[in-house]
Amino acid sequence: MPVVRIVEVGLRDGLQNEASELSLKDRYQLVKKLSFSGLKRMELGSFVSPRAIPQMQCVPKLTKKVLLAQSKGVLPKGITYSAFVPNRRGFERAVECGLKEVSFFVSCTESFSQKNINMSIKDSLKNLRWICRSAGKVKVRVYLSAAFSCPYEGKLRPLKVANLADRIMQKGVFELSVSDTIGSAVYTDVLKLMKALQKKMPVKKVALHFHDTRGMALVNVAAGLETGVRVFDSSIGGVGGCPYAPGASGNVATEDLVYMLDKMNIKTGVEIPKLIKTTRWLEKKLKHSLPAKISFLKYKKLDK
Ligand code: MG
Repeated sequence: MPVVRIVEVGLRDGLQNEASELSLKDRYQLVKKLSFSGLKRMELGSFVSPRAIPQMQCVPKLTKKVLLAQSKGVLPKGITYSAFVPNRRGFERAVECGLKEVSFFVSCTESFSQKNINMSIKDSLKNLRWICRSAGKVKVRVYLSAAFSCPYEGKLRPLKVANLADRIMQKGVFELSVSDTIGSAVYTDVLKLMKALQKKMPVKKVALHFHDTRGMALVNVAAGLETGVRVFDSSIGGVGGCPYAPGASGNVATEDLVYMLDKMNIKTGVEIPKLIKTTRWLEKKLKHSLPAKISFLKYKKLDK
């Protein structure tokens, strides 16, 4: 039976786009609920300046609390918690908090890089090199963002993306999360990009990160599975997308992803009812509904 690992990014990619702030206590509850659902990898948030993203200011405290709870056996041992670091300072703070895995961001186009992190691709590669050299035993994951198309420069050539991916991997990155940031890719785009990437690196180094902006996320996961990818990112409930940017969407919902994989006899170790319960809880906290398709009603009627 094939096995897929899910990286839960709801606390980072999801919550950073939420208008309402979730308290430290609520975030910890969310981590706890997700940790007992069977997920093995989870991002806790971003070590960014609170001026840049105020929603992330409690992440250092949350990280310390989570890692302490794990060391005491309150949270399951086998889970890898990580966080996003935008720069050297963020990396240092994340490591100070005790994280053993961090993620970093490299954009595929110059315009997206400038608009998003106010930095050239060249400078972000320089930062990445510094982080990888300082990392020691800390694992570094990179989001290759806007890997299929860019909101400013349009569609990307797979070869260009693969060449950049190759440069990134050579710095000592353990996993590349190839991201369809604006949710524009379709099945064939994934096949084409994977074909180009596989000439540069083993498929086991690749994860896929899809946003469901146009409803294509699960189809794209299926394309990824066809090419041998076994790591996918998702957000609980599909949380994410900016309430002030109409049409922006979160990642594929974790429960929808697990549902599809379960039905395909692909093992994830994640329990759908626990995810659905967590989404219900999160909807109450955020005071709005979340886009996940799998609910108790649908799950129980058809699948029990
Ligand atoms: Mg994303």
